[in-house]
Amino acid sequence: MPKRTPLIAGNWKMFKTGPEAEELAGELKSLLSDFQGSDTLVAPAFTALGVVVDVLKGSQIQVGGQDLFWESEGAFTGQVSASMLKTAGCSYVIVGHSERRQYFDETNATVNKKVKAALGGGLMPVMCVGESESEREKGQTFSVIQGQLEEGLKGLGTDEIGRLTIAYEPVWAIGTGKTATDDQAQEVHQFIRTQMQTAYGNSISDALRILYGGSVKADNVAGLMAMADIDGALVGGASLKAESFAAIVRGSVDTAG
Ligand code: PEP
Repeated sequence: MPKRTPLIAGNWKMFKTGPEAEELAGELKSLLSDFQGSDTLVAPAFTALGVVVDVLKGSQIQVGGQDLFWESEGAFTGQVSASMLKTAGCSYVIVGHSERRQYFDETNATVNKKVKAALGGGLMPVMCVGESESEREKGQTFSVIQGQLEEGLKGLGTDEIGRLTIAYEPVWAIGTGKTATDDQAQEVHQFIRTQMQTAYGNSISDALRILYGGSVKADNVAGLMAMADIDGALVGGASLKAESFAAIVRGSVDTAG
């Protein structure tokens, strides 16, 4: 079957004020104005969503949140709901990023609530999974990922899973410059697709986009994208400069398809 349409997502993390984000989004819009072939997404900080959505109007580049809360509204100081993100112009939201798990005590159970809230609010969640360095060294990679998938997706039906994207991000490769080799990444992506096939059937697992994240750059994206089960990238550091992110987006289609 033809490979899935790639998705290249930029996670701007806690970088870029409103004016800085406006500038970056404007540069990306012009650098990618003639580009087709991959879906493109940027996830700015909440404070920059409005301006980035405005700048990117009329472009192919979509906008997402970096996180959300699972309740729809209420006295939850500092939190942002799915409908707030949707109304601000987001189509996607990242859920369960390893930095959220590490610094903000997110668990597979809270990730599950957030995935459900995102889907219920009309957003497409990008659910992050991945093992730490010590888990990999102890041979626990597959069991950790299996637990993150089973618990993170608990109670979801096939039509909901059809709107999900999974990002495999080995924690040891995030922001470290250590990329998983193409084969290391493919091995885990294939494992994820097989798990999803067993749980939800062929049509869901064939259509599911599984992104790789962890020190993706313009010079390694093509090799990753050439692997059968890698359908795109979640990019941190290299998404903060328009030229490097645009080069990754363009590089993602050189071998895909
Ligand atoms: C990320 O934050 O999801 C990420 C993959 O970061 P980096 O590309 O900087 O490793």
